[in-house]
Amino acid sequence: MPDIAINSFLREQLADLKTKGLYKSERRIETPQNPGITVNGRPVVNFCANNYLGLANHPEIVQAARDGLDQWGFGLSSVRFICGTQEIHKQAEAQIATFFRRPDSILYISCFDANGGLFEPLLGERDAILSDELNHASIIDGVRLCKAQRGRYKHSDMTDLRAKLVEAKDCRFKMIFTDSVFSMDGDLAKLPDICELADEFGAIVAIDDCHGTGHLGATGRGAAEELGVLDRIDIITSTLGKTLGGASGGFTAASAEIVDWLRNRSRPYLFSNSVPPSLVAAGMKALDLVDTSVELRAKLKANTAKMRSGLEAAGYTVKPGPTPILPVMFGDAAVAGKVAEALLAKGIYVIAFSFPVVPQGQARIRLQVSAAHSDEQIDAALTAFREVGRELGIAGY
Ligand SMILES: *Cc1c(COP(=O)(O)O)cnc(C)c1O
Repeated sequence: MPDIAINSFLREQLADLKTKGLYKSERRIETPQNPGITVNGRPVVNFCANNYLGLANHPEIVQAARDGLDQWGFGLSSVRFICGTQEIHKQAEAQIATFFRRPDSILYISCFDANGGLFEPLLGERDAILSDELNHASIIDGVRLCKAQRGRYKHSDMTDLRAKLVEAKDCRFKMIFTDSVFSMDGDLAKLPDICELADEFGAIVAIDDCHGTGHLGATGRGAAEELGVLDRIDIITSTLGKTLGGASGGFTAASAEIVDWLRNRSRPYLFSNSVPPSLVAAGMKALDLVDTSVELRAKLKANTAKMRSGLEAAGYTVKPGPTPILPVMFGDAAVAGKVAEALLAKGIYVIAFSFPVVPQGQARIRLQVSAAHSDEQIDAALTAFREVGRELGIAGY
């Protein structure tokens, strides 16, 4: 293979990332995903998976995937509309729709695709899309593909959203789209206020509930249920890759007309393969388990509260919020990185985030608590945080 010019350019770019501490290297975990995993031959407690209810590798989900494989085969070698739709796909879509109390839903290979394929089919030049500035990358990319007028409002700033709605008041359709849970900060979108504004301006409300589905709300219907506005939301996108089993698959739940139109016009659906039956079957089992997971949601709440109060008692600053995402704030990127390294050495696997993933000067360690963490694992994490705080001489410990 010739060493083409772009290679040497990229070598410089990659070296630059490394100099700036922005290069992402991937740690290899040597076990299936669980609260306890093995990294570099050492057992560690995992606090950085989106495995909120502990359903990743749940035996019933793994068995459902096996049964799906046995009964329906490995893969379809087709997109849905040619010869890639089996009974199981229709059943899963009906189950997802019922779960969210919507008329219909449509499966995608991922929620990245659900978001990527949502805006362009629905909104054109005469329409407007109002999007929270901290929305997920898949939403930003999806919005880029559509010709609607764009308004990016300041994070959860209802005054700014109102101003953007006023600017868009003559548009045919206006859609407000927000992450329901912001994954770097663990805060919820102000959905009740957003719904009120939407009513006032006749706007569509659409949310991405990836970090809420399954574990938030009294029955696990996500952030909108938690905030009491589930039935007012027009469009919900979410993933099977987090709480709902942790493999992959995404979906959009909405009116029958929206879903039917997406089946006809959404490009990641039309031009990408059918979701494999094993994943579909596993997703359906995950939804069943969510319905019977009252104890798991209670355990998640208890674990989160224990972790938060323990960290605060040890002198750490944890951003407030109602979700199992706990951002432990350090400000300085080097300090956050050092603390994460020291914690890993003590068997606690966490990740430090710094600019550009979070704003300059707001470096943090993001802990993601799971219902599957044992009391001993939470205690071990708190002990490690206390020790590291002392050893690194961070004030207050
Ligand atoms: C994880 C995530 C996605 C992507 O979901 P996949 O199914 O993994 O593609 C989209 N939006 C948000 C907010 C997410 O957190």
